[in-house]
Amino acid sequence: MSTTRTTCPYCGVGCGVTVEGGVPRGDREHPSNFGRLCSKGAALKDALNLPDRLQQPMMDGRAASWDEALDRIATEFTRIRDTHGPDAIGFYVSGQFLTEDYYVANKLMKGFIGSGNIDTNSRLCMSSTVAGHVRAFGEDVVPGCYEDLEEADLVVLVGSNMAWCHPVLYQRLMAAREKRGTQLVNIDPRRTATADMADLHLPLAPGGDVMLFNGLLVHLVDAGKVDRDWVSEHVAGFDEAVAAARATAGSVELVAAATDLDPTDVLRFYDSFARTERVMTLYSQGVNQSANGADKVNAILNCHLATARIGRAGMGPFSLTGQPNAMGGREVGGLANQLAAHMGFEPESVDRVGRFWNAPQVARTPGYKAVDLFEAAADGRLKAIWIAATNPAVSMPRADLVRDALRACPLVIASDAWPTDTTALADIVLPAAGWAEKDGTVTNSERRISRQRRFCAAPGEARPDWWMFAEVGKRMGWREAFAFETPAAIFREHAALTAFENNGRRRLDLGALATLDDAAYEALEPVQWPCPASGQGAGNSRLFARGGFSTADGRARMLPLAIRADAKLAGFPLILNTGRVRDQWHTMTRTGRIPHLMTHSPGPRLALHPRDAMLRGIVDGGLARVTSAQGQTSLRVEIEPGLRQGQVFAPMHWTDQFASSGPTDRLVHALTDPVSGQPDLKGTPVQVVAL
Ligand code: SF4
Repeated sequence: MSTTRTTCPYCGVGCGVTVEGGVPRGDREHPSNFGRLCSKGAALKDALNLPDRLQQPMMDGRAASWDEALDRIATEFTRIRDTHGPDAIGFYVSGQFLTEDYYVANKLMKGFIGSGNIDTNSRLCMSSTVAGHVRAFGEDVVPGCYEDLEEADLVVLVGSNMAWCHPVLYQRLMAAREKRGTQLVNIDPRRTATADMADLHLPLAPGGDVMLFNGLLVHLVDAGKVDRDWVSEHVAGFDEAVAAARATAGSVELVAAATDLDPTDVLRFYDSFARTERVMTLYSQGVNQSANGADKVNAILNCHLATARIGRAGMGPFSLTGQPNAMGGREVGGLANQLAAHMGFEPESVDRVGRFWNAPQVARTPGYKAVDLFEAAADGRLKAIWIAATNPAVSMPRADLVRDALRACPLVIASDAWPTDTTALADIVLPAAGWAEKDGTVTNSERRISRQRRFCAAPGEARPDWWMFAEVGKRMGWREAFAFETPAAIFREHAALTAFENNGRRRLDLGALATLDDAAYEALEPVQWPCPASGQGAGNSRLFARGGFSTADGRARMLPLAIRADAKLAGFPLILNTGRVRDQWHTMTRTGRIPHLMTHSPGPRLALHPRDAMLRGIVDGGLARVTSAQGQTSLRVEIEPGLRQGQVFAPMHWTDQFASSGPTDRLVHALTDPVSGQPDLKGTPVQVVAL
């Protein structure tokens, strides 16, 4: 019986999967999960052959051939570009893309159409971390690896329900804790399954993270825990960062009052961090999905940089990526403010990428970030948008405005494996090959590139996303640039671009992989970057212990960080926090079709603190109307004592297809982080009344 080794498609942990006789199981050889899978990964066999697949291109509601659909897209893009300029076209893609899909889409938009207007749903997931990394390290680099979880003595989880959202890493952490007694601190306004297992849970007031970590920085300085030699050699901005921290969070009492925490608990956390050398701080969407997410990230990085707790065994800041290939997308330039291969839009990078692609009209400025992209579609600046492998009609803030934007935009193309609320609004729908049906690579949270391998035929006429973008590029006249025949050829070009004139400027260097022949690509084992052709530092699972940051002077930056005032809105006294439930993924396109994954959380529920419920006369299981400045919906209520009073929680998954309440994100405001452009998905002012 033949065995296929591939990777789970659901989250950024990037677990290896082996498939024998069509049955997926955890891959014992994969260094990220060693055979473990979570409930979603274990249900992968049920994700094969699901009903309702899109199988044929559709144009204006009728079946069309691929030639008809692709010719029309190419013709319309050319006309729009000639008439309105390249910025009148936009792509909105996905962390579900394989790196090869992302590479071709990005090359088409930024290199040849000539606009920066390609953004991704990773904007909603990780872009504050990207901004924080770039500001501190000069490049979007995760310094550590999963093994650090097993080598740490203290693990601090900030804004993360790791037990539900990164379950296999959580299993690794719990196994290590059994052996070495790892201390666990969970910083989260909501008491989750992760908080239940923590030695210390700090239910801070929403938005209090910068205050808390500024206070920690002050405490580390005062406790004599700064590594002065390391800082003076490898860090800039220390004095300014400490002065700003002292001005905002000069005492434990101040921090405790501002974050609504018990001062004894704050001090316990600070002391524990100060006296433990092997500390990891892991952070996820509670940090990222915020109007000051980038500052939250840098507040955490400041503490690790000041103490040189970075890049060594069991210590460092670590971002937990949400989507399976958010990292790969960031590597090829899938965000509107990146160009390619971790390069930005500096003139020398534009010139370098233009020469590499032999593309004379490379975009010179960043494009619209996700929220702005749909605003541009709504107000007529965009004349065409291509949405691929994502469902913004459900998952974007102000989901109803996004739907209106798609109705208003003259040409909407949607490529996906299943029909969604977004494909229902598209003029052209393209059937995409899904997991198990296409080949490529993904990069997980620890910089590990793994293969996804095909072991099933795609249904009907479904094709890989990279093929669709390449075909449009060829039909727009760029035959040579998009003459890709295989994912291996795309990967080689991507790897070569990371190495092109790199000369050690950026840690993302895959030069050693640029010469893989097709057989070697097929056999590629999971590998962590950097992988430079020189072999120096190849596969290094930890970075920066001896400095070498990707800034012009090689030094990291500590940032002075101010405290941001909360969003408050008269008439909306509660704060809506949106997030995930254990067994669902995104807008349920795949997991919502697997019956046993629906049993854990059978429907959308509004979690409400007992006192907030009592004040409104709402009982457990009762129906409530939730209203924000953006819209309203009705949800069943679940009384949750683990919430802070004044905060409510609702899952983001359910769509019109799966629940009459429609998308939770129709309530969510479009406030974004001014640095990263990431929406504040956890802080919408709402009112709740009994129905
Ligand atoms: Fe898949 Fe993530 Fe679960 Fe691993 S932890 S099996 S990658 S969903």
